[in-house]
Amino acid sequence: MAELTRTIKYEADRVPGFGREVMSVPGCEALESCIQCGTCSGVCPLSIYMDYSPRQVMALTRADFKNEVLRSHTIWLCASCYSCTVECPRQIRITDIMYELKQRAIKEEIYPKKFTIPVLAKEFYKMAHSQGRVTENILATLMFLKTNWLAAMGQWKLGLGLLLRGRFSLKMESIKRKDELNRMLTTVDNLSIDSLTDGRSAPKKGSH
Ligand code: SF4
Ligand code: SF4
Repeated sequence: MAELTRTIKYEADRVPGFGREVMSVPGCEALESCIQCGTCSGVCPLSIYMDYSPRQVMALTRADFKNEVLRSHTIWLCASCYSCTVECPRQIRITDIMYELKQRAIKEEIYPKKFTIPVLAKEFYKMAHSQGRVTENILATLMFLKTNWLAAMGQWKLGLGLLLRGRFSLKMESIKRKDELNRMLTTVDNLSIDSLTDGRSAPKKGSH
């Protein structure tokens, strides 16, 4: 029997304060003035593939529907082309809001787990954070194993051949003094985690 899912959202699905948190991040403040005209969805070249249109993501974010937004494919399909931001009649920086939502989805581990783009973004960041460089072969292997390991197994002959010919290395590349980079990135991370958890670190509108 087909599984039925509720599509209407109720008040209980909201996470009060989420919209305020996002709008307190520099660059995201104008979301408050969205008039839901739909121009962003109309100009977005990828909206036909999205589960929620850019207009809907703006509305859901402002109305505190955190889980719906952070679990959506839309924020990961956004190609940062900035068409929506250029055309928005209220000068809302929709692309930057999409970035903010992606960062929150990764930090809070709320994202479609088998969807390639967030997994790739997360592994890319982890590797750059710890090594100061990204080793593409290892990144691609991790991405396959975490999203579709059966497809990875199907490529084992190709991988082995490349490995034997020295075209595919699993040696991790890294920079010197990576501990310094690590300390710097950890400091930035902690700042953003503070702003996610209690909102005190993020500058607020009218706080100066
Ligand atoms: S174009 Fe701007 S004002 Fe119109 S729906 Fe999109 S974000 Fe809101
Ligand atoms: S920046 Fe993202 S949401 Fe905006 S038009 Fe481009 S792909 Fe669509």
